[in-house]
Amino acid sequence: MDKQSRMELRRKVGLRDLPKPQVKILGPEYAMSFACLNCKTSNMRHFDKAPCDYPDTMECPICNGVAVNLGRHFKPPKKSDDAQWKKVKYLVEHGFVFQTIYEQRDDSGYYKVSYPRSLAEAKEFVAKYKDKAVSIAL
Ligand SMILES: [Zn+2]
Repeated sequence: MDKQSRMELRRKVGLRDLPKPQVKILGPEYAMSFACLNCKTSNMRHFDKAPCDYPDTMECPICNGVAVNLGRHFKPPKKSDDAQWKKVKYLVEHGFVFQTIYEQRDDSGYYKVSYPRSLAEAKEFVAKYKDKAVSIAL
């Protein structure tokens, strides 16, 4: 067998040994927080679909009300922290479900806007970014 054929053979063997392309399984890192503003609880849920196809809302397992998809990065306040839950409720009711908001500053590019820390800040935030609000059926 000449060198050419050996290489050819090795290449074929190599190809056969190549692992099949892996089907990407979305793991728990793609779980989203579904928060119920009524119960002041948040549950992480994972669905077998692309994150962009996740539902906006689901039924709250506790009160059967509406739990809102607040994405991967939502950190639920303590259940006893009424002020923070009020802020979350205010934001959600005005179409801010912790989606990432970008703001252009000067001409130097887009910056990620931080979410407000208090209800007072939330009111300013909603007024300032109202064109970025999303509509969800609550
Ligand atoms: Zn609930």
